[in-house]
Amino acid sequence: MAGILFIISAPSGSGKSTLVSELRKQVSGVDFAISWTTRAPRGSEENGREYHFTTREDFERRIEAGLFLEHAEVFGNLYGTARQSLDEALDSGHDLMLDIDVQGAEQVRSKIAAAVSIFVLPPNPKVLRTRLRNRSRAEGVVNEAELYRRLAAASREIEKYREYSYILINDVLDRAVAQLEAIVLAERFYRNGEPIAYRSRRVLEVAAACLLTNSQERLKPVLEAFGIDGASGQQQLPFGDDPDDD
Ligand code: ADP
Ligand code: 5GP
Repeated sequence: MAGILFIISAPSGSGKSTLVSELRKQVSGVDFAISWTTRAPRGSEENGREYHFTTREDFERRIEAGLFLEHAEVFGNLYGTARQSLDEALDSGHDLMLDIDVQGAEQVRSKIAAAVSIFVLPPNPKVLRTRLRNRSRAEGVVNEAELYRRLAAASREIEKYREYSYILINDVLDRAVAQLEAIVLAERFYRNGEPIAYRSRRVLEVAAACLLTNSQERLKPVLEAFGIDGASGQQQLPFGDDPDDD
């Protein structure tokens, strides 16, 4: 059976790593591509588990050797997906999930039109800031400059939401995990005819509600909170929340 390539993107701190890790506990047969990066490991991260950590020189050699399916510079560091991850998933017939930024998603879509892309949004900027800060605290390093860099990038990334097939708003975690699971099961059902083991009709309804075309109402308040014009997809206001009000 042919595996499905899923792309998941979100502003940093929206909760996509958490969602993917919960999904993998619930659904088997989804491999996760471990990206390469030149950024330093955070807190409890281990080389070869969350990322393959490497130097810029080594990363650039890998680009030259054509080892990446896609790569991009994000927050001053290089990140890339090894072609090998895709080859291994194809060989095993497993689905593959790529957690990559909006630039990487664009590159993959242009090469693999059948990829299913999912954009995750936090409910509003204040929640995003709190999550970023809590994560930094949990790791024992609160780097305010890095935090604001990531917050400032959020609206620019959210402007790209229309390029994705599905929209997830990660407010209540259990609900967002159930939606992600429904998307994976529904895509397997439609593409491969794989039966859904339980509550199949409900699963298909949940997935359909997350399609971009069916998400305008849910998206409206989120886009407004980030100062993005729903019609044009462009940012209207600079990132406006008071950094100290949480
Ligand atoms: P990302 O991978 O998008 O950068 P993470 O998965 O690391 O984000 O999540 C950022 C922080 O937010 C983590 O501390 C995580 O535990 C927390 N988090 C994720 N989803 C939720 C949620 N729905 N409600 C509350 N906290 C969440
Ligand atoms: P973080 O440093 O928080 O782990 O990731 C920062 C950003 O880099 C996130 O948006 C994440 O999706 C993105 N990212 C992680 N791996 C890759 C990759 O292999 N390619 C690209 N293009 N982006 C990646």
